[in-house]
Amino acid sequence: MPESLLDNRISPITASDEEIHAAVHGADLASFLPALLPALAHALGDDSLLVEALRPDGDLIRDETAGLDADQQAEIRRLAVEVLIDVRDGRRAFVTGGADRNDDGHQGGGGTDDARLGASDDHIRRLMSHSTGEDIGAEYVPLMREELSVTGEDLRAPTWRAADLAPDRSFPVAIIGAGMSGILAGHRLKQAGVDFVIYEKNHDLGGTWLENTYPGCRVDVSNHVYSYSFAQRNDWPYYFSPQPELLDYFRTCADEFGLREHMRFGHEVTSMTWSDDDREWTLDVDGAEGESTHRASAVISAVGQLNRPNMPSISGMDDFAGASFHSAQWDHDVDLAGKNVVVIGAGASAVQFVPHVAEVAGHLSVLQRTPNWFVPVPNYHHPVAEGLQWLFRHVPGYAQWYRFWMFWRSSEGLLAACAVDDDWDDSSLATGAANAELRELLEQWLFLCYADRPDLHDTVRPMYPPASKRIVLDNGSWSTTMKRDDVTLDGTPILRIEADAVVTSDADGHETRHTADVIIYATGFQASKFLTPMKVVGSGGRDLHDVWDGDARAYLGVVHPGFPNFFLCYGPNTNIVVNGSIIYFSECEVHYALGVIEMLLREGLASADCRQDVHDAYNVRIDEGNLKMAWGVSTVNSWYKAESGRVAQNWPFSLLEFWQQTRSPDPGDYHLT
Ligand code: NAP
Repeated sequence: MPESLLDNRISPITASDEEIHAAVHGADLASFLPALLPALAHALGDDSLLVEALRPDGDLIRDETAGLDADQQAEIRRLAVEVLIDVRDGRRAFVTGGADRNDDGHQGGGGTDDARLGASDDHIRRLMSHSTGEDIGAEYVPLMREELSVTGEDLRAPTWRAADLAPDRSFPVAIIGAGMSGILAGHRLKQAGVDFVIYEKNHDLGGTWLENTYPGCRVDVSNHVYSYSFAQRNDWPYYFSPQPELLDYFRTCADEFGLREHMRFGHEVTSMTWSDDDREWTLDVDGAEGESTHRASAVISAVGQLNRPNMPSISGMDDFAGASFHSAQWDHDVDLAGKNVVVIGAGASAVQFVPHVAEVAGHLSVLQRTPNWFVPVPNYHHPVAEGLQWLFRHVPGYAQWYRFWMFWRSSEGLLAACAVDDDWDDSSLATGAANAELRELLEQWLFLCYADRPDLHDTVRPMYPPASKRIVLDNGSWSTTMKRDDVTLDGTPILRIEADAVVTSDADGHETRHTADVIIYATGFQASKFLTPMKVVGSGGRDLHDVWDGDARAYLGVVHPGFPNFFLCYGPNTNIVVNGSIIYFSECEVHYALGVIEMLLREGLASADCRQDVHDAYNVRIDEGNLKMAWGVSTVNSWYKAESGRVAQNWPFSLLEFWQQTRSPDPGDYHLT
């Protein structure tokens, strides 16, 4: 048994021929095959396994079979079985080290240092191109090497130490929030030997994975991708694991990185003020023992975007006599068994918990304002196939190649399907040819799900372009629930709430009364109100919320003019709609913040304040970029927009571009003091 969730030790192959055969043939997904031969080629140092005829079709990598037909799949499996038996019998040997902790002399551990560091860029590129069926551009290789981290090396770790750059300087950093980004920032600062404290308002770490405990809560990005590049976990139990697994992962990371001693739980930063004289921040912190004040040379905000519940304002809400709560503040003391439950909202959170509530409620009404687009993901609730887990445990680097494959197929290619085509006539249903093609595919899935319920078609059919809102993952459980006899899906507007009901009304004024013992608000978060309710006062006494005026912006999503030495994680325009994971973005943002801190320490500078003209020019480009994407032009409701209608949340360009822009700070972008 592994000693830690992050213990990715590779075990020797002792399985029988039949067991190896069963492992390679047993995995229930064809999507594990494209990465298999490149992983074996890399682990064995044998490129003869990159058989040209067994490359997936680059145009079809988002299909489950990646364009590999049955014969090709069978041949990949046959070759893999042959190779694994050879390794077991000593006729071949793995030469790479596999993941980090492989130090016990197992097959994976025998590699030379050169091999452990992986192949040359050209070689890595060849392996990547084979597994994706695309000619991956050379510019992607350094980025993908970091993400892949095939031998467990941490290529994003700071290469400097504060003690070397500024041995006599005190440079305390305050991190706000101990969720995914705060843990990451703490880890990086610790690696660099910079002093830091993490203030966390909750009683424990984990952020969104601590707070959201609703039934069915799980990650909706492939789990092998939704994890730190430098702390990958090979044995995720599910392709999309439930919330407790994610919370365990982040707790393990914090423990293994030695971060708990830096964390101050139950401490909420209520305000922070920059002193132009002292060139430092003062933080006011509310804790169990009262209010306190702390100084910091720099502050990293890691408070998240999606955690302050958005409660609607509906006539009569206060008159409701039953229990009610928001999905992110699930009240586990409320027994839903046999009750009349009304759910307001039908976004990503509702889609996860509603099927569970339907199982226990007496009657469930789902009040949907806007229908979702759903993308079919058959393995959404499946445990990772045992055969695949076996391969992760026995082939050095395979889990990392699998992660790379999952990363790539959910990255840049999808952006084209969200783009606005200037020559497209009517953008109300689709924004261009590729978007229309996506719409057709998603519509096919939708009508397949509701083939037996034409009465629901008008209610479930989105009348807006796909990717204007978040496309929700689906394995059919939502439509199955909506079709239950004890579930009502109502797509008409809510009129009022009464003591024991929620009343809706259709276009003809016909009212429907949904009797309610319990109301669950699945109404999302105040996403565009970045940093609220914290007060942030920068240079010259300017309040950041006044500056933003409800429409948050930042340079690179990380820094803002007039607020020196202040860095945002998951700040304005760093959310992604269809490509990548937020962890990828946080890793880039933290890397950039550390780059600025390094610059300050190396050059003996007190502060770095982003130039206004640099910030403004950047935001013009971001706004232009968002107006070329479905989420920028569509008028449908979405949390991607600020009240002004401007897209304040989303990043409109490629993952590569975000990585490139956060590689290292340009001193010319700053007023340095
Ligand atoms: P959401 O997507 O913003 O959905 C909120 C729902 O409430 C929408 O259906 C919205 O309707 C409705 N609503 C809001 N105000 C309303 C009002 N006054 N009257 C009636 N209906 C109202 O929120 P969410 O489902 O919590 O998800 C937010 C984001 O969190 C997701 O997009 C995703 O990025 C993230 N998330 C991730 C996971 C995961 O990884 N597992 C799970 C859940 C959420 P409209 O659509 O008309 O606005």
